[in-house]
Amino acid sequence: MTMPPDLQPETTVVAAGRPARDPGAPVVAPVVLSSTYGAGGAVAYGRTGNPTWEALEDALGALEGGSAVSFASGMAAATTLLETLPLGARVVAPASGYYEVRSFLTDRAEGGRFDVELVDVADTGATLDACRGASLLWVESPTNPLLNVADLPALIDGAHEAGALVVVDNTFATPLLQRPLDLGADAVLHSVTKFLSGHSDLLLGAVVTRDTELYAALAGLRGLYGGVPGPLEAFLALRGLRTLAVRLERAQASALTLAQRLAAHPAVERVRYPGLPSDPGYDRARRQMRGFGAMLSFELRAGAEAAERACAAVRVITHATSLGGVESLMERRARWAGEVEMGTPPALIRLSVGIEHVEDLWADLERALSAAVQR
Ligand SMILES: *Cc1c(COP(=O)(O)O)cnc(C)c1O
Repeated sequence: MTMPPDLQPETTVVAAGRPARDPGAPVVAPVVLSSTYGAGGAVAYGRTGNPTWEALEDALGALEGGSAVSFASGMAAATTLLETLPLGARVVAPASGYYEVRSFLTDRAEGGRFDVELVDVADTGATLDACRGASLLWVESPTNPLLNVADLPALIDGAHEAGALVVVDNTFATPLLQRPLDLGADAVLHSVTKFLSGHSDLLLGAVVTRDTELYAALAGLRGLYGGVPGPLEAFLALRGLRTLAVRLERAQASALTLAQRLAAHPAVERVRYPGLPSDPGYDRARRQMRGFGAMLSFELRAGAEAAERACAAVRVITHATSLGGVESLMERRARWAGEVEMGTPPALIRLSVGIEHVEDLWADLERALSAAVQR
């Protein structure tokens, strides 16, 4: 459906990916579960196309300013994107970031599939030095779980000068807060599982690009590897996406309040939230983002066991992995072996702020922190 140009993203998130406005037509894109289609049409078979994916892809493409290809999960999107690279391609990626992307790259590097260099993407000079001779720079910003902010315009321009493509994992920021394609990135990756769908009830991923060759390669490889989204998941993701703007508005206002209060709490050693003026990422985030997001992390002075006790003590917030849902989630990230390998501080807790009342969240955190340190 053609929409008026220059809509605000808060409108696009509601309006994009709708059926044509014909009399009697549905207002909501229907979920189409058919695995096969009558011969001679645009869609032939359910591994190469589906009308419900297309509605979701239209919406994601409109939000990021490109064309989207959806996948069964964020990792299916990431690994398919990496498989477009030639054998032995040099890839520069975050040393501290989403762990499975890093481990896919380092595992494949052992067999010679990729030549991988891991860097601190918040260190622009070191990242660009590593880009010499690289095919691809993979960036996350803000990063998981440290909430470091990379200087996206400088990295994108510098990597392009070095001849590398740039992929930005925009899962933490969402296109409402950050539009990497506008900054020149070649592709954006999303775990739609997180904020975009927003209800912790499905897995789905997407790549968005303006590069027509890359788009065709991704759509082709998706059909060959078969990591296709379920139509029902695509339907639910699009339904969840409709409320992204209001969910984020509430969640990030609460995240700022919680970050400020945690920073002043005696049990807390350090808070990372790019919306705190004292945060090392604050200036960059202000330059390249429309808001600071709903993810934060903090370290407890009393150490890893106290952090575990705090996670076990919350009653409003849920002690679980993942992020981006309407319900607040927290966990001690270094409970995962991979995070220890990445150097995640042992007492660091990652908090995904949901849309509950902020005073209930704060009361829950305060109670959990005092239970954790009283021993
Ligand atoms: C969750 C996540 C992924 C992977 O997405 P899945 O949908 O879990 O496969 C990639 N990057 C980031 C930043 C994530 O949070």
